[in-house]
Amino acid sequence: MACATWFNSSSLTHTFLPVLYRQTAVSTTFLRFSRICSTSRFFSSMNRTSSPVLGHVKRRDAFLSKEDQVASPADLRCEPPLKIVEYPDPILRARNKKIDTFDENLKKLVDEMFDVMYKTDGIGLSAPQVGINVQLMVFNPAGERGEGEEIVLINPKVNKYSKKIVPFNEGCLSFPGIYADVLRPESVKIDARDINGTRFSVSLSALPARVFQHEFDHLQGILFFDRMTDEVLDSIREQLEALEKKYEDKTGLPRPERIEARKRRKAAVGFGKS
Ligand SMILES: [Zn+2]
Repeated sequence: MACATWFNSSSLTHTFLPVLYRQTAVSTTFLRFSRICSTSRFFSSMNRTSSPVLGHVKRRDAFLSKEDQVASPADLRCEPPLKIVEYPDPILRARNKKIDTFDENLKKLVDEMFDVMYKTDGIGLSAPQVGINVQLMVFNPAGERGEGEEIVLINPKVNKYSKKIVPFNEGCLSFPGIYADVLRPESVKIDARDINGTRFSVSLSALPARVFQHEFDHLQGILFFDRMTDEVLDSIREQLEALEKKYEDKTGLPRPERIEARKRRKAAVGFGKS
């Protein structure tokens, strides 16, 4: 997830100002996150087991109907420096394998991912975004090396989502320069493994929950615009189409997906009424 100018949308300013406006405020939030990690006792009103904001998200049945494949050592091999994979590269929609080997190769990949995340001003990064299709994400909402806390989540699963849904102006390193509002649950309870393979559970809220859900979507092949309302999507359609054109120019291949295929709701309504 890209480190954005968080308050592009004036309507969000009031909502998020207390938590996110200042770096010190983010640090405070993250201190709480650190404490949560150690106690796993922070809970909001969570009683959903599936995300309540899936309206525009196609179920990626390949992920749901087959048993998860396990990554081989070759799947985890990376050649630094890593580069960010941009939309609409099909790598971003490919299946991501589970990790069951927790060795030096994995640690090297994690180090490289943090490296590219900081260099690109990110606060979260998933493995498919650097061309490695495995279930791994790293994040640090402080966005600066040496500040906040570096979090590594492997094979994460969501147990519960909060009832409360909140908007946030998100960016994504795979969509350079594009920011738009996305609705997501305010908090989540998750299970995952750490870099040593140790299983743990944690509840996240505010910015850590936001970053986690964005990166978790990447591990399911879901991209942030999949969750946008039609109105919000309309505001970035041209930018998405420009990325699709850039992909064709760069690779000489036809774009593997096109935003144009997602119908505009207004047009559909008009057609129905005529
Ligand atoms: Zn992203």
